[in-house]
Amino acid sequence: MRLPQQVEHLIVGSGFAGLCVAIKLTEDGETDFVVIEKADDVGGTWRDNTYPGACCDVPSQLYSFSFARNPEWSSSYSPQPEIQAYLQTIADEYAVRDKTVFGTELERATWDDENQVWRCRTTSGDVVARTLITGTGGLSEPRLPDIEGVETFTGRLFHSARWDHTVDLAGKRVAVIGTGASAIQIVPEVQRVAAHLDVYQRTPPWVIPRNDRRYSRLERLGLRRVPALARLYRAGIYWAHEGYVPAFTWQPRLGAPAQKAASINIHKGIKDPDLRAKVTPTFQLGCKRVLRSNTYYPALAAENVDLVTDPITRITATAVVTGDGAERSAEHPVDVIVVATGFWTTELPIAERVIGRGGRTLAEEWSAGGMSAYKGTTVHGFPNLFMMTGPNTGQGHTSVVFTIESQVAYLRGALRTMRERGYAAVEPRAQAQRRWNSDVQRRMRHTVWNTGGCSSWYLDMHGRNTVLWPKSTFTFRRRLARFDVDAYDVQVAQPTPDREAVA
Ligand SMILES: Cc1cc2nc3c(=O)[nH]c(=O)nc-3n(C[C@H](O)[C@H](O)[C@H](O)COP(=O)(O)OP(=O)(O)OC[C@H]3O[C@@H](n4cnc5c(N)ncnc54)[C@H](O)[C@@H]3O)c2cc1C
Repeated sequence: MRLPQQVEHLIVGSGFAGLCVAIKLTEDGETDFVVIEKADDVGGTWRDNTYPGACCDVPSQLYSFSFARNPEWSSSYSPQPEIQAYLQTIADEYAVRDKTVFGTELERATWDDENQVWRCRTTSGDVVARTLITGTGGLSEPRLPDIEGVETFTGRLFHSARWDHTVDLAGKRVAVIGTGASAIQIVPEVQRVAAHLDVYQRTPPWVIPRNDRRYSRLERLGLRRVPALARLYRAGIYWAHEGYVPAFTWQPRLGAPAQKAASINIHKGIKDPDLRAKVTPTFQLGCKRVLRSNTYYPALAAENVDLVTDPITRITATAVVTGDGAERSAEHPVDVIVVATGFWTTELPIAERVIGRGGRTLAEEWSAGGMSAYKGTTVHGFPNLFMMTGPNTGQGHTSVVFTIESQVAYLRGALRTMRERGYAAVEPRAQAQRRWNSDVQRRMRHTVWNTGGCSSWYLDMHGRNTVLWPKSTFTFRRRLARFDVDAYDVQVAQPTPDREAVA
């Protein structure tokens, strides 16, 4: 598909969020929209993260659309190829590909207040849109560590989200930098083939057992043939996960049994007391993302693996150097470095590219106080902008897909209201946005993320948690169930919209 010059709705990104928006707009009879995607396929996270061992850490039954359940998942936590295949199938079944312009990156979107439209510059040309809907993801842009000498390394180095499959790790000396969600999936796979593996840890995570199992043919048949059973099963998993919310948001002591399970996981996987001590976190479970694995600790305990906890000071042509002085300094020779240091989460790259009513980018708007939005979706000063997985919409305990569907319902309500009442633009009032965020931040004070004794990627440079939602996801859904136009300033459309003039 070619990029049109003008559309009613421009959707950016084709991961879970972009696909969901496109599908639901189509269901509402909207035809005048286009999806732009900078890569050459749909899938987002699941197209990009092809590292060995990649899989979801929320059960697949829940980590899929409620309107497109998949009875064919092979196991309770599906591997990346299955999730990517699922998203590709959805894109085909709902004909989203026909509405997508691939290889097209949004470079800049500027609000034109006179004509009440977004003027967008992309790598495939310019497009004017009434609404701008971003599905650009919170974990999309790899974050590389700023280590002295990294450019002098003569071996192979790549980020976990850009895995270089041309590199054969068999018999190599490999370094994995980071011990987050991706790293704990990568380490057991690399340990099996590498001659030697150094794992560089700054802060150990809590890792609970992953109760993964393959579905039998009979179970899959049941899920396929009896939709009520599939719905019930999914609902059971959803409510079991919501059970974590009080421990995260209200009374961190309730997380003690899970922390006990994580401690037992360490003891089962590792015999060496020194190594056990090194991997035991000093903060409360939940403060950083809780990870799931049965194989991470045994891999760390393997003969060919060293867990390095001294800080990395520099990288040379052939080694990683740790330690702060001559005595403690050590050089670790390495052939391949895998950087698993996460993503830009609190300074979203898209924020640099969206320019609002006052001529300021979202990033500038947020520079003083950190990211903030109304209901995690709309932003004062940025009319007709709808951000999927915007500020304070993430969770540490359940599926992002549930949140995306809640936001898409809110977006549909907004578009319906605009259509029915003839509004050209809607923009949340500053006061409504302030009130929403002060409530979110007030709730945040008692969460384990703020009181659990860790520093995490949930916190921005001001120490504010602008990533997570501090209540249950059903509360989020309820709060976004209806488009509350009273909280918005609206602009009525001109009687005879002159599309030519606008373009
Ligand atoms: C390894 C890994 C495992 C995860 N596991 C889970 C899990 O188990 N459960 C869970 O709930 N969440 C998980 N997540 C979080 C995951 O990111 C979300 O669940 C979900 O995939 C986000 O979907 P999205 O569509 O919002 O964003 P993404 O999947 O990140 O998609 C964003 C899309 O936008 C495109 N894009 C970005 N900028 C532009 C631009 N300027 N112009 C055009 N296109 C652009 C990107 O190319 C991409 O295709 C995981 C994340 C990672 C990295």
